Amino acid sequence: MPARKLFVTTALPYANGNFHIGHIMEYIQADIWVRTQRLLGNEVNFVGADDTHGAPIMIAAEKAGKTPQQFVADIAAGRQQYLDGFHIEFDNWHSTDAPENHQLAQDIYRGLKANGLIETRTIEQFFDPEKNMFLPDRFIKGECPKCHAKDQYGDNCEVCGAVYAPTDLINPYSALSGAKPVLKHSEHFFFKLSDPRCVAFLEEWTQDGRLQTEVANKVREWFTVRTNPDGTQSEGLGDWDISRDAPYFGIEIPDAPGKYFYVWLDAPIGYLASLKNLLDKRGQDYEAYMADPQLEQYHFIGKDIVTFHTLFWPATLKFSGRKVPDSVFVHGFLTVNNGEKMSKSRGTGLDPLKYLGLGMNAEWLRYYLATSSAAATRTSTSMPKTSCCASTATSSASTSTSPAARRASSASALAASLARSRPMAMRCWSTCAPWRRPSSNCWPNANTARPCAKPCC
Ligand SMILES: [Zn+2]
Repeated sequence: MPARKLFVTTALPYANGNFHIGHIMEYIQADIWVRTQRLLGNEVNFVGADDTHGAPIMIAAEKAGKTPQQFVADIAAGRQQYLDGFHIEFDNWHSTDAPENHQLAQDIYRGLKANGLIETRTIEQFFDPEKNMFLPDRFIKGECPKCHAKDQYGDNCEVCGAVYAPTDLINPYSALSGAKPVLKHSEHFFFKLSDPRCVAFLEEWTQDGRLQTEVANKVREWFTVRTNPDGTQSEGLGDWDISRDAPYFGIEIPDAPGKYFYVWLDAPIGYLASLKNLLDKRGQDYEAYMADPQLEQYHFIGKDIVTFHTLFWPATLKFSGRKVPDSVFVHGFLTVNNGEKMSKSRGTGLDPLKYLGLGMNAEWLRYYLATSSAAATRTSTSMPKTSCCASTATSSASTSTSPAARRASSASALAASLARSRPMAMRCWSTCAPWRRPSSNCWPNANTARPCAKPCC
């Protein structure tokens, strides 16, 4: 039986701080899956990288009196102790500021442009009159236009998962100065995700059984014009603003002086850059590796970045003429206080090094995460369950030569396993509060039409 050839990644951590326990959870889940695949005789390249670009890092570096490059290098230098400490073995750790990523991002952009999927438009953008700069999405805060949660970032809502423009926020303010931002005009570049070719491809890619049921259901909401359970309207796929104005720490857009790729354009391309860097070091040919039709590509991510990985990323790859992911494995958040996302900035984070510093055994945490989330609720998006199911199912289906057949088998095994599993009383991996009835603010339950299974929805 030929070994499967797998390219596996975890989400790239933003290089403005050290790893938190959520990163470690995801890496442990992926590491367990990768080890399983290797035990089954499959060939795996498992890579990560630092996500280095964007105005937040530029601003943090300025505050620290460093160049952005120095700043991210210092963060990168601290990574290994966490990975070693929790027995996480990536084959490569790279950076989205590396030359491979600059080259790949610009090549991919040229591919999209040649396909007629890039257009420029003049938009109004928030400008901080005190700091004298256009404000990045994450430095504008305000009330979510969909669910009305307070203090949400300018690009997406951590409570309901909605993705929107910063100008959609209610009562916006600059997180840099606290000033009320003013609107200014600027020319921006858009990836035409609303193009019928993109829509048709993504409807197929997201709904053909490769994604977890809860994720596929959530993503389906974003395609159609419909009224959501909470009465709000979904309007279908919108075009994606992929440019930012100088000053910006990022990758320059070819033939567009003063314009840079929005960090979310080049961040997932960092998966490919890290792989290319690894293969180059081994003397292997990257293009030949990626061109192998047997290659399977999987990404482990948290549910807060589903949009980027199930819409933007596959479409970016597809329409620049590249291999698209076989699936993404989505996990929920570690939560505290009846379902609140664990958050360092809100003072509820756990420092992984403290766990180790107290003399706790890393294997205890690995075991805990593997077993507790494997038994998690049927409506949860907890990762190890999915990954374990996918692992079992795809290994038993490995006699099939068709990736589609392997994915289908994986999905049906997952569905069977979901049906078998029982709600677990101890943990909630979802953000929704146990007392809350399902709504569009309460995914992954939003489309299940089932009441919350107390105490863990
Ligand atoms: Zn919201």
